Amino acid sequence: MKVAVLSRNPKLYSTRRLVEAGEERDHDVQVIDPLRCYMTIASQRPTIHYKGEELQGFDAVIPRIGASVTFYGTAVVRQFEMMNVFSINESVAITRSRDKLRSMQLFARKGIGLPVTGFAHSTLYTKDLINLVGGAPLVVKLLEGTQGIGVVLAETDKAAESVIEAFRGLKANILVQEFIKEAQGADIRCFVIGDKVVAAMKRQGKEGEFRSNLHRGGSSSVTRLTPEERMTAIRAARIMGLNVAGVDLLRSNHGPVVMEVNSSPGLEGIEKATSKDVAGLIYQFIEKQAKPGRTRTKGQ
Ligand code: ADP
Repeated sequence: MKVAVLSRNPKLYSTRRLVEAGEERDHDVQVIDPLRCYMTIASQRPTIHYKGEELQGFDAVIPRIGASVTFYGTAVVRQFEMMNVFSINESVAITRSRDKLRSMQLFARKGIGLPVTGFAHSTLYTKDLINLVGGAPLVVKLLEGTQGIGVVLAETDKAAESVIEAFRGLKANILVQEFIKEAQGADIRCFVIGDKVVAAMKRQGKEGEFRSNLHRGGSSSVTRLTPEERMTAIRAARIMGLNVAGVDLLRSNHGPVVMEVNSSPGLEGIEKATSKDVAGLIYQFIEKQAKPGRTRTKGQ
């Protein structure tokens, strides 16, 4: 098959592995920078061009769209869909999962476990919002944050109020969340492909750190999932409409709660922690599923 890996950086571990695993399985794999694609939109024959050439004959696309290029990146994925090329994650699902509030609302609607969470645009009733989510200790986070930056633990109501006001003063969107103390600075990354969790790891924050992000000095290890955790991860990916997803869970006293669902989950941490060929498993899925015109927006 001819496969496009949509990625801005061919040197990244995940991109390299997707090229390597595809070639091992005799596929023709090309890394394409989505920001360098240009397109024509017409109802008869949509096209994508890259470095002066028209992109043709692709059977499948693996989008690896970074958060900062979601808008243009998903437009490129959508264009491939218009050309009847199978995308492992469809553009609408990527867009949906990038919006944390929308995702949480959809999860809540389907009864997925979530930390008690509040959000507001105005700071006029911050005290009331803090009370609504049960008071301190609370986690305040930037809606657009990544790698644990902009995630703050407020130990008192007063501290929570100050952090919320400071963030709002910067015109940032925030949410306020019950602090899941019993997670003890750890979270669980479930790597979902299709309707299976193919690999899972526990990430533990460094000493004295409640954030488990590897970028914040956390470490990872293999973990056994409970059936409830497995089911929660699979359902969360399905609700987002993602075939490939990294679902982050916290182990709370009220069962697994979903932190977030990532549509371009990294391969390095999970492959190293579990010694599994996750990139190869992605190709196995594509080999079974990639048929022209298979990617259709399932949005309701
Ligand atoms: P990012 O998207 O920047 O990684 P997260 O919302 O995933 O931000 O938070 C980073 C880490 O902080 C999580 O992986 C988790 O370990 C910890 N964390 C986040 N929210 C909570 C919470 N409500 N209770 C306990 N720990 C949390």
